[in-house]
Amino acid sequence: MSKKIILIIEDETDIREMLRLRLNKEGHVVLVADSGEAGLALALERRPDVILLDLMLPIMGGLEVLRKIKSERTVTRTPIIIVSARGDESDIVVGLELGADDYVTKPFKMAVLIARINALLRRTVSSEEAVDPLMIAGPLKIDMTGYHVLLDDNPLSLTKTEFQLLYELAKAKGRVLTRNQLIERVIGDSYVTDRTIDVHLASLRNKLGDARNLIATVRGVGYRFVQS
Ligand code: CA
Repeated sequence: MSKKIILIIEDETDIREMLRLRLNKEGHVVLVADSGEAGLALALERRPDVILLDLMLPIMGGLEVLRKIKSERTVTRTPIIIVSARGDESDIVVGLELGADDYVTKPFKMAVLIARINALLRRTVSSEEAVDPLMIAGPLKIDMTGYHVLLDDNPLSLTKTEFQLLYELAKAKGRVLTRNQLIERVIGDSYVTDRTIDVHLASLRNKLGDARNLIATVRGVGYRFVQS
C-alpha cells in the first residue's frame, strides 16, 4: 500500500505517541493533534486519508469535531475511526450515525487497530458504493439483480427485509452498522423500533443455519458481518 496520511486526534499523550510511532513504522505519514480544534484545522489543511478520533476531548469534543468534518465538503468523505473508552457506547452509536466509519474501544490491541485502518484504506481505494450485482461473502452469493441468495450453492428463501439486511451488512464489509442505520437503509421508516430489527435479524440468522455466525451482534451498538 502506498504512503498514506493518517491524522490522530487524541489528548492523551501516551496513547498519541504510541500510535504515532507505530503508524510511522507502518510507513504512513502521521499527523497529530492534541485537541479537537487543532485536529479540525489539520484535517482541513492536510486532507488525511484516515482520521483516528478520540471522543473525550477537552473543549471541542470528538462528536463536535466529527460533525464539523462531515459538514466540510472537502473532507466529508475522509474515513474516520473513533478510538474511545469503553462505556461510551451511546456516544459511539451517535458517532457512527454522524458518519464515522468504524470504532475501536480503549484499551485496544494495536494489531486490531492497524487491521481496521488498512481495511478502510483498501475500501477507499476501490471506491465503494457502486452496486455490485453479485456479491460473494464467505459461503454466500448475494444476487442483487435477482434478489436471491445462495448459501453453499443452495438457495435461501428470505423475505425482502431479511435480504436487504444481509446485503447491507455484507456490503459494509465488517464495519458495524447501528440499529438505526439498518432501519434507515432497509426499512426507511424512523418509527420502527430497534426491536423490529432484532426480530428480522433473528429470523435471518435462523435461515442461515450453520452460517448464522456470519452476523455478529455488537452489544449496545448494532450488528456487523464477520469477514471470513
Ligand atoms: Ca481523551
